[in-house]
Amino acid sequence: MATREQKQWQHHAEEKLLRKARKQLKRHREADQARRSDWRWDGVIDPADDESPSFERVMPRGERERRRAHLQAALTEMLEDTDETPAPAAADGLRGIVVEVSSGLCRVAVDDRMVMCSVRGSLSAAETGFTNVVAVGDVVIVSEDDAGRGVVEAVLPRRSFLARPDVFLSHLQQVIVANIDQLLIVASWREPTIWLELIDRYLIAAARCRLQPLICVNKIDLAETIAACRAGLRPYQDLGYPVIFASARTGEGIDELRKVLRGQTTALAGLSGVGKSSLLAAVQPGLNLRTNAVSEFSGQGRHTTTQVTMLALEMGGFVVDTPGIREFGLNGLRRSELASFYPEIVAAARRCRFGDCSHMREPGCAVIAAVQQGKLSAARYHSYRKIYLDLPA
Ligand code: GDP
Ligand code: ZN
Repeated sequence: MATREQKQWQHHAEEKLLRKARKQLKRHREADQARRSDWRWDGVIDPADDESPSFERVMPRGERERRRAHLQAALTEMLEDTDETPAPAAADGLRGIVVEVSSGLCRVAVDDRMVMCSVRGSLSAAETGFTNVVAVGDVVIVSEDDAGRGVVEAVLPRRSFLARPDVFLSHLQQVIVANIDQLLIVASWREPTIWLELIDRYLIAAARCRLQPLICVNKIDLAETIAACRAGLRPYQDLGYPVIFASARTGEGIDELRKVLRGQTTALAGLSGVGKSSLLAAVQPGLNLRTNAVSEFSGQGRHTTTQVTMLALEMGGFVVDTPGIREFGLNGLRRSELASFYPEIVAAARRCRFGDCSHMREPGCAVIAAVQQGKLSAARYHSYRKIYLDLPA
């Protein structure tokens, strides 16, 4: 039983938090303008291409509590992270993080529980250039009625976000996920065979939205020799990209993976079947990409498929899965900009005969020469060519 003092103390602490939140909300108004030119991500996610997650409803005894505790720990950390962020329109209420959005409703992690929320009708995305008001990863202010129904009253400014052109209103952007720190690009060495061009596309996408990219090559247990894997990924390591060689099956590289995920909010990218779920389950036993994040609520608002889910890690941090990422359309990217995303091409191009060399067929192209001399990765150059031809002139 809580004593009166304890209750008072708690009340006092809540009041303090609220005052702080209000102050931040006020501070934000000036910063609102700046927020709009935030990061963009032009990767194409095809919602029709979604792999429907199966909704696991039955959980072992104690599992729900365990998950809540994890979520609470991770949530606290994330809220602390955003403490210095100024906030938008004034609103009173609880602070939480949106972990799932589904046809107008969202699931918000507030303290140690989940609140299913609708979004305050007066909140409009229209003037922000976005089609959605609330995205997974958003820090929001929630009010709650006696029946436990929540309403999102305000969305705090995003420190980063991934967006794509809206499916229906292509002049507007849809925010896929907010407040991401890094992009973990997962590939498998075999089954399916490693696809370097896709890694390059993800690297470009990460650079365009200023996310730290990490590469994880899974299923190295299927490689004849680890030396082959290392050689294949050497160009990336030489460029300074962190590369983790892992096997969800043998446990290799899992510690390293834990280290990079700890305390960060990480978006996952990679073809289906490369082992994203298996890796996460290895990182944290019981963590299930396909079922965890959507298992707490039954039914409500599920008529559209969940696109993005957010999982809390015990050790702190979140992992965000964006199922349906298949092809990375590099929307809005021009051919002439492509080379700038290949640091090694930029370096070699200084000796090209023509200043505007496309490195595709020009005479005196130092990039082509470097590839022929083995000084520049043929695989990287090959992906450059393929992506170049895909882009509008
Ligand atoms: P996801 O679609 O990226 O989440 O991939 P999954 O985690 O569902 O894995 C796809 C398949 O690859 C499953 O059959 C896994 O058992 C298998 N798999 C995952 N990781 C490894 C690994 O490290 N080695 C091997 N040999 N198989 C793996
Ligand atoms: Zn050139």
